Amino acid sequence: MKLSIIGPPGSGKGSQAELFEKELKLKHISVGDLLREESKKNTALGKTIKKILNKGDLVPSKIVWQITKKEISSVRDNFILDGFSRELIEAKVLDKHIGLDGVIFLHISDNEILRRLSNRWSCSCGMTYNLLNYKPRKDKLCDNCGRKLYKREDDRPDVIKKRIKVYKKETIPVVDYYKKNNLLIKVNGVKKPKEVFKEILHKLNKKLYKVSK
Ligand SMILES: [Zn+2]
Repeated sequence: MKLSIIGPPGSGKGSQAELFEKELKLKHISVGDLLREESKKNTALGKTIKKILNKGDLVPSKIVWQITKKEISSVRDNFILDGFSRELIEAKVLDKHIGLDGVIFLHISDNEILRRLSNRWSCSCGMTYNLLNYKPRKDKLCDNCGRKLYKREDDRPDVIKKRIKVYKKETIPVVDYYKKNNLLIKVNGVKKPKEVFKEILHKLNKKLYKVSK
């Protein structure tokens, strides 16, 4: 199965992708994590990416695709792409190389995005927590691996507002594109992660069943 999960920043894409990895053994490919990893390297590319991410802008498609493609070709199948595609051009490039079975779209409101991101804490293992409704069991330690949680640079309020603007301009056309291609599975992302996951599975099953018939 080849899936992709898209949605505004803070919609819980990472948490859902982690659940897919845990429950369905799909490889979680987080484009954001790949970019952040690259940005920590002391290379020209790493430095460029770091500057862009800290401003809340989108990393150019060419760079994103180069990094994502490498990861996809190492797994080939049974993966869930998290944070790709962010722009229409990326969706089209992906289509040329890999036919996705479904694209999950997590929907939440702008206010909810702000509220969530300003309370978000991340772990280097890929888990994210929210102090409002998804707290770690121990204060600022990861339930999954026990490491200390950290605040992402791009989760500051001024950067968040910019990210919402960029998202609307660039990613909404991607949503429309997948809708037209009958791949979109729209899910309300406001509920708790486990409940959202259940709804995704339900809708995904329905969709795949219909397709195979
Ligand atoms: Zn962790």
